[in-house]
Amino acid sequence: MNDELMDYDEVLERFDPVLGLEVHVELNTASKMWCGCSAAPGGEPNTRVCPVCLGLPGSLPVVNGKAVESAIRIGLSINCQIAEFSRFARKNYFYPDMTKDYQISQSDEPICHDGWVDVEVDGQGFRVEVERVHMEEDAGKSLHMGGAGRIHGADYSLMDYNRAGVPLMEIVTRPIMGTGRYAPQVGRAYMSYLRDMMKALGVSEARMEQGNMRCDANVSLMPKGSDVLGTRTETKNVNSLKSVEGALRYEMMRQGAILAKGGKVKQETRMWHEDGEYTTPGRSKEQAEDYRYFPEPDLVPITPSREWVEELRATLPEPPAERRKRVIEQWGLSEREMGDIEAVGALDLIEATVEAGAKPQAARKWWLGELARRANEADVALDEVGMSPAQVVELQRLVDAKTINDKLARQVIEGVIAGEGEPAQVVEQRGLAVVSDDGALSAAVDEVIAANPDVAQKIRDGKVQAAGALIGQVMKAMKGQADAGRVRELIMEKLS
Ligand code: ADP
Ligand code: ZN
Ligand code: MG
Repeated sequence: MNDELMDYDEVLERFDPVLGLEVHVELNTASKMWCGCSAAPGGEPNTRVCPVCLGLPGSLPVVNGKAVESAIRIGLSINCQIAEFSRFARKNYFYPDMTKDYQISQSDEPICHDGWVDVEVDGQGFRVEVERVHMEEDAGKSLHMGGAGRIHGADYSLMDYNRAGVPLMEIVTRPIMGTGRYAPQVGRAYMSYLRDMMKALGVSEARMEQGNMRCDANVSLMPKGSDVLGTRTETKNVNSLKSVEGALRYEMMRQGAILAKGGKVKQETRMWHEDGEYTTPGRSKEQAEDYRYFPEPDLVPITPSREWVEELRATLPEPPAERRKRVIEQWGLSEREMGDIEAVGALDLIEATVEAGAKPQAARKWWLGELARRANEADVALDEVGMSPAQVVELQRLVDAKTINDKLARQVIEGVIAGEGEPAQVVEQRGLAVVSDDGALSAAVDEVIAANPDVAQKIRDGKVQAAGALIGQVMKAMKGQADAGRVRELIMEKLS
């Protein structure tokens, strides 16, 4: 990195930043965009391919209806209009990872247009206007062998077309102005909003680190008081929230230094280097590439009926940001407690457990505690741990009824996960119920007192804390299946 940078505060004194975010979202449909090949990530190279996604002459694409449905739901979720007539277009360019020599995309007739998203940074609200959402296909992957894995210095390259033809949505904003000092954070908050929304919609895995959601981050600077847009740079394929913020901030500081010296920002794509946190030039865009867009002749236009659009609107989830606010309020959580739930990815399960009748506090305790621990141990997702929200409700009911205590509850969880049945059945079959039958308890207490005359004497002398040791021994003798409160009462009765 040898760019000259302007101090961030000085940038803001002299310029207004303008952002433009192009976000690619890879859908999680079962099949690809134009053929029946699996769209699942990975697989042995070139095993999920057919004449259509390999672009062989004479093959014909057919639109994946589920992908169109996802595109419309994405559009609706960010307040877009859904086009009554939308067409695919060929975007012509040559690149080895795209054997057709054109990408089927959409140009001036996208499926969704004119939406918006509201984000919040430091308590301030910003509206991000969305120009369009369009559908296209992903390309294959080039693997550069030998050297450092880059094309430069490689001995040869291998092609894997498994990803070719996977449905890809592109969400493009209008130029975002008026964000000032918060520009990089607004970019990040917008990405974060989209990521959470894609997950809530269930249309994409939306894992930025795995590349199924990535952002081209455009930014330019306008001298204060001007209303003419400056020249933008486009940092390509930024793949984490932190990097979106970092790349925007870096470019603002780099461009500020150039403009302050009377220089011109070059319109180009740039690459973000996560390790050193700087950008370097990619492709120059001075001679804008001519993609020779024209309507795709092999596909019919998309004309979604208004009824269908309304049906899809009815399937939209509560926006994640609103849900978060509601949950924090309803359950009386601190920001940190909410953060813990999010870190484990347990909100859906906890909410389902609350809806099934548990108190939020209890639902949180089991999902974030014992169940998270077991999921972690088995290396599975929390919702695959083997216990349902209804079973957690049942478990807590047994605890509340004092049939079991927390310690025994953990054994019940173990049994349920092992497939031994419902919580009550596990209690029954494993004989886990707490013994509150005074006869059995009383006998155990007598035995422990007899075996520990010194401790017993201390308690008689008023050292009540000493009772803990005796309670522990009784619990041990009863294999944990005693009501500890009742044991304490009995000890005190007998020694007073
Ligand atoms: P390209 O295909 O060249 O990347 P697009 O129009 O698809 O162009 O995307 C450009 C993105 O940058 C859009 O989000 C657009 O709103 C935004 N944008 C356009 N002009 C500017 C500018 N001068 N400064 C910052 N962002 C801009
Ligand atoms: Zn195929
Ligand atoms: Mg672009």
